[in-house]
Amino acid sequence: MTSETYDVVVVGGGPAGATAAHDLAMAGCRVAMLDRAGRIKPCGGAIPPRAIRDFAIPDHLLKAKITCADIVSPKGRRVPMPVDKGYVGMVDRCEFDEWLRVRADEEGADRVTGTATAMERDPDGTAVILYEDKAGETQRLRGRMVVLANGARSDLARQAIPGLKHPKCVFAYHEIVKVPEDAAARANYDAHRCDVIYDGRTSPDFYAWVFPHGDSASIGTGSARKGFSLRGATAEVRERHGLAGFETIRREGAPIPMKPLRRWDNGRDVVLAGDTAGVVAPASGEGIYYAMLGGRLAAEAVQAALATGDAAALRMARKRFMKEHGQTFWILGIMQTFWYRNDWTREHFVKMCEDKDVQRLTWEGYMNKVIVRKDPLAHIKIFFKDMAHLLGLARA
Ligand SMILES: Cc1cc2nc3c(=O)[nH]c(=O)nc-3n(C[C@H](O)[C@H](O)[C@H](O)COP(=O)(O)OP(=O)(O)OC[C@H]3O[C@@H](n4cnc5c(N)ncnc54)[C@H](O)[C@@H]3O)c2cc1C
Repeated sequence: MTSETYDVVVVGGGPAGATAAHDLAMAGCRVAMLDRAGRIKPCGGAIPPRAIRDFAIPDHLLKAKITCADIVSPKGRRVPMPVDKGYVGMVDRCEFDEWLRVRADEEGADRVTGTATAMERDPDGTAVILYEDKAGETQRLRGRMVVLANGARSDLARQAIPGLKHPKCVFAYHEIVKVPEDAAARANYDAHRCDVIYDGRTSPDFYAWVFPHGDSASIGTGSARKGFSLRGATAEVRERHGLAGFETIRREGAPIPMKPLRRWDNGRDVVLAGDTAGVVAPASGEGIYYAMLGGRLAAEAVQAALATGDAAALRMARKRFMKEHGQTFWILGIMQTFWYRNDWTREHFVKMCEDKDVQRLTWEGYMNKVIVRKDPLAHIKIFFKDMAHLLGLARA
């Protein structure tokens, strides 16, 4: 591996890295995709139709198709939000991520298994990713360009881009449970419905969820608050929602970065993508679509830099992402700050979700990843409802 210099070394084979490696290989670049094996990414697995469309996700990877989300308030009020048209796809990350890696491999990317440990430079200045292979030996991958997509809180990213700070994270934990075959045992469960639970007891600053995955389901919660018991809260969700008796298959957790980093490149030969760049939507914690888009934009920026020899092209990855989604992230950040504060605001937030315009605009925004501007009257109505709830003028 040492003698060859790849056009691009991609570190990480999750949605961001595998998409970047696939697109680069398809564009004719010599690519190595380095991924450590053996860990399933903890994830609810919800993806919008836009992701299915833009990244040609085949139907067989969708373990469930969700047609309604129930929003649950601290007092236990349930507000059903039926999906107007279409569905939310649910993927199993074990199968989904491997499928993405195989697709990159089939396109011509070299799949390398190992754990990246550091980045250094050869005497000629070329970037070298050091990694530990299965035998515990240190190996090297040389690349004219490097895409770092190895998940949240990447030390490699900090090493590659001086001054980079890890963003604030929500720590998310979930339990993968087996859905019982016996209809009576799963009476409280609907295989086509997600439950999104806003309650200070099960998350003081985020939300808890029940996401179906076909014959299994993800039940979990998240919080940025140190010391908050995510396991205890998940047990409470299971107890209160009649899911305590489901068999637990896995318990796992991971940080979710909640803010795009200020820089995604080192101005020379490294660009970040996905969770490594901090691109998970505030309020919802949605990261798969944004990671895949980040991987695609990183791949295009790298191609431009390789073609022109101008490393400034790497900046385009962040610039293009923020142009398209910066405003949505900003709005969702404000929403999280305002509405996820305490049970009083959560109760009002859930009440707002009864509004048909809120439901329609929320689904349209989520499904297609565009802010719907064509309906100013609905926005004005929502704004005044928002204000009434915030000022306590409306009853929850
Ligand atoms: C509990 C939980 C629930 C979530 N639910 C949802 C959801 O329902 N929908 C949604 O859209 N998002 C969800 N997210 C967020 C989503 O999982 C992430 O945003 C998304 O996986 C980011 O993709 P990525 O490719 O950037 O990073 P990752 O998916 O983290 O992939 C990183 C890859 O890098 C590899 N890697 C890591 N370190 C190294 C190393 N040193 N060397 C080599 N390889 C390495 C890993 O093996 C992995 O394959 C959830 C997150 C959590 C934690």
